[in-house]
Amino acid sequence: MRNCRVASELQERDWKLAVSESFRNLGELLEFCEIGAPADAPVDAPVDEYAGKHEFAFRVTRYFASLIEKGNAVDPLLLQVLPDALEFRQVEGYHADAVGDFAAMRVPGLIHKYHGRVLLTLTGACAIHCRYCFRRHFPYGEAGVDYDMNGPVMRYLAGNPEVNEVILSGGDPLMVSDARLARLVRNLNRITHIRTLRIHSRVLSVLPERVTAAFIGTLQQFRGQVVLVTHINHPNEISALNQAAFGLLVRHGFRLFNQSVLLRRVNDNAQTLAELSNKLFASGIIPYYLHRLDRVQGAAHFDLSAHEACRVYTQLRERLPGYLLPALVEEIAGNASKTPVRCD
Ligand code: SF4
Repeated sequence: MRNCRVASELQERDWKLAVSESFRNLGELLEFCEIGAPADAPVDAPVDEYAGKHEFAFRVTRYFASLIEKGNAVDPLLLQVLPDALEFRQVEGYHADAVGDFAAMRVPGLIHKYHGRVLLTLTGACAIHCRYCFRRHFPYGEAGVDYDMNGPVMRYLAGNPEVNEVILSGGDPLMVSDARLARLVRNLNRITHIRTLRIHSRVLSVLPERVTAAFIGTLQQFRGQVVLVTHINHPNEISALNQAAFGLLVRHGFRLFNQSVLLRRVNDNAQTLAELSNKLFASGIIPYYLHRLDRVQGAAHFDLSAHEACRVYTQLRERLPGYLLPALVEEIAGNASKTPVRCD
């Protein structure tokens, strides 16, 4: 028993060490990737000064960085994390709260928009900072989740028997320790109408060190079903290392789905998206949603018009069998569910 605990602590230390070794400095990442300067950075701005102007900090895991093609300043993985002067542009129709999260927060850290399910913003921390993130302006400081049994979240869940699914989000919910996850799982187990625990996480793909025996053991303590939703946008984000982590989760009986965001210059063509679906499926993951970009301030340069999105999607539909075709959706604040984008 003691040996098991020591092994768990070692594993926890390993993934936390991997987090601490992430790139926090754009210059170091570019040096690692053998790239001189951002493709569209102001030419007279030192790279680090350029990065430092951004309120949304810079962070990239070593694993994700290792998948960026050396010397390629327009690598589709690099473009997802590269700060860009365009983020400072004010564009009409792009807001700090792109999807109405603030209005739907019932108690701190609990967002209730859709029938039967609620979302907890478990932490503001992420292993990687995606420049298009729809929660890049989210006030995590005001949304700390207190999930003590007598705290507001558990009281809300206990008082709403129609809620049978809890979604862990963030930030990235897998940035919290197994001990904290285990405490949350124990408390959820005591609310009998919660039957499904869904975890939305980019950590699963960008920090495969996180998928440890201790983590799996923690999830197995939930008495209902556990659904894991990865966030992978490009086939190059999948390699042998994270495939091994996905395989481990599948072999332990967890269901894996993926959602992607349709991003200009990253995955805005049917060939890339078809390759992604095939690679996901080969990794035990079902392609689930292809999201149009949530119109968040600072990310307009990633967006595709509805016409462009439909053109890509129609071509994608022609390339894939139905079971590999993710649903093209958008989130419209106030709607009772994600909204399918009609391309007919
Ligand atoms: S919440 Fe998700 S999309 Fe946003 S920065 Fe974190 S990992 Fe990226």
